[in-house]
Order: sequence, then structure tokens, then C-alpha cells
Amino acid sequence: MKLKIGKKDNYLRREDRDHYRHDLLKERQGALSFFLLTGMETNSLISEGQNRCVIACVHCDSRVLSPQSATFLSQAHPLPTPTQPKDQPSPNTEDLGEWWVVDDMFTFDNIGFSHTVGNTKYLVCADCERGPVGWHDNNTRKSYVALARVKHT
Ligand SMILES: [Zn+2]
Repeated sequence: MKLKIGKKDNYLRREDRDHYRHDLLKERQGALSFFLLTGMETNSLISEGQNRCVIACVHCDSRVLSPQSATFLSQAHPLPTPTQPKDQPSPNTEDLGEWWVVDDMFTFDNIGFSHTVGNTKYLVCADCERGPVGWHDNNTRKSYVALARVKHT
């Protein structure tokens, strides 16, 4: 009789363990998709939805934005890649998902604008003119700086 109870206990315990494993797995999957949306590294750059640190050019350290001057946005948008093959009809782009949104272009410490393409101007470093580091919407007048194309210091 005791043995029977013991077996039942073991069975239940194993079932509990499986439930626990299942929950743990779900938890891990949840954490994983969270990290994919907003990486742990990115979270450390955001304070109250805005940039915690100075944003600068990756090539020449020119200051682009001061702390707490832009709002974080997680949204996929294409941006031309920094280097382009010559004699191409349209530029190669990559989809980037993390942006600093600047409502007023006078908020920038330093920024350069490229020629207009459609309703868009591309943002380049004011000092070394490398980029694009983001894009500017001529209609809304908002600017979007790609987290992946700048340095956070
Ligand atoms: Zn630069």
C-alpha cells in the first residue's frame, strides 16, 4: 500500500515537474521575444523613453544629440547602407528597428542633411559627412536616428 502511494506521489511529482518545465520554457520564450524586440543593451540606453547618453558619430565623435533630447521608437524602417556599389539605379537598404525620434531639427547638436529623395532627406554627420545615420520626414518634419548607426557615450 505504501509503495502504491509512493508511485502515485512520484507520478504526480513528475507531472508537476513537467508543468514547471513548461512554464519555464514559456517564460524563456517570452524573455527571448522581448530581447529580440528591445535588446538588453538597448534598454540600458533608454531612460524614461529617451536617450540616456550623448549620441555621437561613430567615425569622428561629433556630437549629434545631447542626453534626454530624443524619444525611443521600435519600428522597422529601411535605411540605405553606409557603403553603396557604384552605378546602381537605387540604393541598397537594410531594415533597422530602433530609432531616436527628434521632433524638431534644431534639437540636434550637429547634423547634416543629404539631398531630398521623395519626401525624405537622409541624415549624415555634420563634420565627416558619413552616414546615413538616419532620415528626416519632410512632411512631419520629424527626424529618425538609427541606434545602430551612432555611438552612445
Ligand atoms: Zn562624423
